[in-house]
Amino acid sequence: MNQTLKLKSITFSYDQHTVLGDISLSVNQGEVACLLGPSGCGKSTLLRLIAGFEKPDLGQIYINQQCVASSNQNTPPQKRQVGMLFQDLALFPHLNVAQNISFGLQNLSSQQQNQRVDDLLALCRLEPFKQRYPHQLSGGQCQRVALARAMAPKPQLILLDEPFSSVDSGLQSELVHEVKTMLRADDCTALWVTHSLSEAFAVADQIGVILDGQLLQWTSPTDLYENPTHPDVVRFLNHANLITGKIDKSGQLNTPVGSLQLANSDVFYKDQKVQISIHKSHISINSVAANNAVVLTCAYQGENYAITSRLDDGQHIKHNNEIPLPPGSSICIQPNIDKAYLGFVVSKP
Ligand code: ADP
Ligand code: MG
Repeated sequence: MNQTLKLKSITFSYDQHTVLGDISLSVNQGEVACLLGPSGCGKSTLLRLIAGFEKPDLGQIYINQQCVASSNQNTPPQKRQVGMLFQDLALFPHLNVAQNISFGLQNLSSQQQNQRVDDLLALCRLEPFKQRYPHQLSGGQCQRVALARAMAPKPQLILLDEPFSSVDSGLQSELVHEVKTMLRADDCTALWVTHSLSEAFAVADQIGVILDGQLLQWTSPTDLYENPTHPDVVRFLNHANLITGKIDKSGQLNTPVGSLQLANSDVFYKDQKVQISIHKSHISINSVAANNAVVLTCAYQGENYAITSRLDDGQHIKHNNEIPLPPGSSICIQPNIDKAYLGFVVSKP
C-alpha cells in the first residue's frame, strides 16, 4: 500500500515548551485519517508542520516517500502539494464560486481549468451557484466551495483543520458525510483533525487520539472503540469504565465485578493494582448471583436507562439497562466479554 504521508518521531516546541512529542503515523493513499483530541493538544500545530509552515525540532516527514522535513531538509509549503481546509474557510470574498475554485489552477490551460472547475462543481453539487459570491452562499455551500478549492489542484494530501466547528450540529453531521463522499469520489488522501468524537468515528478509516501533544493510539475506529490501549484514551472517549483491581497469585485480576483474565498478565506482579477498561455495553445484570453493587442514579436516555452504581469497594461504574433500576437497589454487575482484558498500570486514583 502506497503511504501518502509518513511522520517519523516528530517533536516540536514553541519557546522551549514541547507541544508535540515523538509523533509517528502513516496515512495510506486514498484513506481519510482523523486526529482526535481536545482543544490545545497540538492538532493544528501538527498540520502546520505537515504543510511546511513550521519545521520539526526532531523527526522526519515524508509525502509520497519524499522527505519534505528533517534536520537537513525543509521543502517550502508551495512545493509539498498539500491542500488545506481551515476552520475559517478563508474564501476570497471578491471572487465568485468558479473563480475561488480555479484559484490554484493558474498553471493549467484555460480549457483544463474550466474542465476541472466544472468537474468539481458537479462533484460538490455547486453548479447552480457557479456565479455567486461567498456572501450569497449558505454556510454549508461555503464549506463545499472551500473543499473544492482545496481539491482543485489535485494535491497529494488534503489537511482539514476542524472544518465544521463553526457550523451548527444538525448541518454538521450532514456535511461530514458529504465531505467524506467528495473526498472518496476524487480519490483524495486526507488528514482531518477534530475534537468531535462523532465526526471522527463517522469519517475515519484510521483514528489517532492525541492528548497533550502525545499520540496515544492510532488504529481503526472499531479497534479504538473496542480496545483502547491507554487509560487516558478511555477517559477521553468516555464510553467505558476504568475499574481497578489487584493481581492474585494465579495472575488473574480480582475486581469487585469478578476475577478477570488479563491479556498482558505477564507484565504485572502479585498484589499490584491494575486498571482495566470495561465498556458500558459489555455490562449485564446477573439476577441470580450474589450482589456486588448498589444503584446510585438512573436516568432515562431514550433507548434505555443510564445507570451509575457503586461497587462493593466504593468504585463507581456506569452502565445502561433496558428497564429502570431504582436508586438504592442491590444488583450483581457482570462484565460479559469473551476475551482477556488489557491491564493498565494504575496512574490516577
Ligand atoms: P489544537 O489545534 O489542538 O487546539 P494547537 O496546535 O493550536 O492546538 O496548540 C497547541 C499548543 O501550542 C497550545 O498550548 C498553544 O497555546 C500552543 N501554541 C500554538 N501556537 C503557538 C504559537 N504561535 N506560539 C506559541 N505557542 C503556540
Ligand atoms: Mg486547532
